[in-house]
Amino acid sequence: MLKFPFTALKLALAFLLILAAGCGAVTVQQTSGVERLYILNCGEGVAGDISRWSPGVNVGKSMPFADNCYLIKHTQSGMLWDTGLSDAVTAMPDGEAPADPRAIHWRRPKTISSQLEQLGVKPSDIKYVAVSYTHPDHIGNVEMFPQAMLLVQKVEYEWLGAKNAPRFKPEHPVTKLEGDRDVFGDGSVTIISTPGHTPGHQSLLVKLPKTGALVLSGDAAHFMSNWENRRVPSINADKDKTLTSMQLIADLLAKENAHIWINHDKAQRDTLTMAPGYYE
Ligand SMILES: [Zn+2]
Repeated sequence: MLKFPFTALKLALAFLLILAAGCGAVTVQQTSGVERLYILNCGEGVAGDISRWSPGVNVGKSMPFADNCYLIKHTQSGMLWDTGLSDAVTAMPDGEAPADPRAIHWRRPKTISSQLEQLGVKPSDIKYVAVSYTHPDHIGNVEMFPQAMLLVQKVEYEWLGAKNAPRFKPEHPVTKLEGDRDVFGDGSVTIISTPGHTPGHQSLLVKLPKTGALVLSGDAAHFMSNWENRRVPSINADKDKTLTSMQLIADLLAKENAHIWINHDKAQRDTLTMAPGYYE
């Protein structure tokens, strides 16, 4: 009878186990992550006086603004980062004029619903809606996704609006965050708490397989020169927290070798590929 040496058997088994574990790790890497990121046009506007965002600098100077939403197609589900101005603005022939002429006169060239439809995405495909914060140019279409889980900082959720009104419908499903959150549990999409502009402002770190890491910085800064010069708008809830959050984002960009995409920076947006094009 041929006797198989015991130690050889053990070695063979150990080898098989290592092989299996290795295969498992490879499979996880390939099956969980972001597949595509689309930039949706969620508004375009003109600011009357950009010193509103940069006290004492560029006084009286007008500037175009963009308003973006981002559709993330993750292997597990769809996610929206910001929902832009309400789709109702698209039907307004002169757009939405601000009460303060220094602020932004918004228009919405296309609805978010038409852009999602063009991509073959139904509102029910969106499992998560996360917003950088709760001004109307970011939360305008949250209720188009009544089944989606809202991901918003607890302090932002509980921060009352005009006339002490809540910022979201109480019946909308919500996860009230207290800090950062790895949305899909695989490190590919992480909400980063960046308070300052408002009490619960947040940003998003997205890791794409080919494009690399991006930070969608919401309104942590409104345009590139404010980001580069660390200028804080006078309208911000907390100046010190804004500066701390800017530094936190700068450290994150360095650590992750990431690019920053500033939501309202139209000059930057004009260099990016809009939906139906995408990043992967
Ligand atoms: Zn904004």
